[in-house]
Amino acid sequence: MTRKLHIKTYGCQMNVYDSARMADVLAPLGYVAAETADDADMVILNTCHIREKAAEKVFSELGRLRALQNRKARRGGRMILAVAGCVAQAEGAEILARAPHVDIVLGPQTYHRLPEMVAAATRAAGGVLDTEFPAEAKFDFLPEASATRSAAALLTIQEGCDKFCTFCVVPYTRGAEFSRPAADVIAEARRLIGHGAREITLLGQNVNAYHGAAPDGGDWGLAQLIRALADLPGLERIRYMTSHPRDMDAALIAVHRDVAALMPLLHLPVQSGSDRMLAAMNRGHTVADYRRTVEALRQARADLAFSSDFIVGYPGESEADFQATLDLMQGVGFAQAYSFKYSPRPGTPAASEPDQVPEPIKSERLARLQELLQSQQRAFNLSLVGSVQRVLLERPGRHPGQLAGRSPFLQPVHAWLDAGLVGAIVPLRIVGVEPNSLAGEALVEAAERISA
Ligand code: SAM
Ligand code: SF4
Repeated sequence: MTRKLHIKTYGCQMNVYDSARMADVLAPLGYVAAETADDADMVILNTCHIREKAAEKVFSELGRLRALQNRKARRGGRMILAVAGCVAQAEGAEILARAPHVDIVLGPQTYHRLPEMVAAATRAAGGVLDTEFPAEAKFDFLPEASATRSAAALLTIQEGCDKFCTFCVVPYTRGAEFSRPAADVIAEARRLIGHGAREITLLGQNVNAYHGAAPDGGDWGLAQLIRALADLPGLERIRYMTSHPRDMDAALIAVHRDVAALMPLLHLPVQSGSDRMLAAMNRGHTVADYRRTVEALRQARADLAFSSDFIVGYPGESEADFQATLDLMQGVGFAQAYSFKYSPRPGTPAASEPDQVPEPIKSERLARLQELLQSQQRAFNLSLVGSVQRVLLERPGRHPGQLAGRSPFLQPVHAWLDAGLVGAIVPLRIVGVEPNSLAGEALVEAAERISA
């Protein structure tokens, strides 16, 4: 009997990966993916706790789902409702208290136990809660990844964080740092390539702190892992995220010089351009360290472009501190970046700092920072007009006859191309810049196709 499973994913790429793995775990029970929650037999909200807004969304969505659940019950069916991810980890008991119609609450480390939880929820009257950090590693118990048909695949290689930045919930919700053995990562990469992946993004909350057991004993860092993956036939592109500036060592910088498959966009969050703020945040590096790292990376690969995360309005941030962030941004020049107003998270040290920055000042600083970021992003995009970029075509575009893909710099690119080219890497001339994408044009009718 098949059952409809709808998973709604919030937050980071690691949650996207986890959602796919939850679907894999439930497939043997007959659950197949459904586009919407309407009439689904099971709905999972895979949540994010990183900022207050992200966490709030979960409770409003739970309210909406209650109506669907009741409608299904009136028709004699049952919709099992599960909350997974970091909100579940941090606020499990509160979810069951505030939303008693939730059947299952599970933290990120217990996804492999989902079938047992579904069985228990089917029997039980109350909600099932599992937010342990179990002794067994969940990756050892998850089934082999199912047939992803995507040309660009995600692969989690590291989880958790021991760095305890003062603003961040990740060490509490995802737990201690853990790296998967290199042989497991390579085996999963081979399977993904077998299912059509041309590009793999290696994921981790602190991916460049990776130190997995090596196939030949000892440990491998991320640099060695990337070199091994680059040798796999059929894998054309490798990316990794998210990195910490502190873990950007010489071996990893050298990989950017040596491995052509490693794509030339690096997401390297700096958060602030003020040493005073970086120290208060417990980031463990200075602005000068960050600039030196960027310089060394550019020496290693001249076309490397940078992306970052910024937080404005961290407790105690003065106008001068904020100005220092704009200065750093000017100095480095970012191809893209994510920027956030500081959001106090319960239980983190920064949340109880007395000198919180007023909301209007945060908003005003965020607007100024985003204006500069947008101008840098636009300048970077314009600099590619006229150039030829190898674009990995991932799916049909918004208009019939159009395909959409990504440039080496991760920019979305769309072009009028034959639908048969999905999954191919095709050289396209960049002919225009739109607000959120680039327009590409085929060089020749028979564009180069990299066959599966
Ligand atoms: N591990 C990565 C690093 O060290 O840069 C970041 C992981 S975190 C999931 C993604 C981003 O969310 C952070 O880089 C930071 O900019 C932002 N973030 C985390 N906690 C935040 C908070 N309390 N308020 C605002 N932004 C936050
Ligand atoms: Fe959070 Fe990243 Fe800091 Fe870890 S290193 S505490 S994940 S911001």
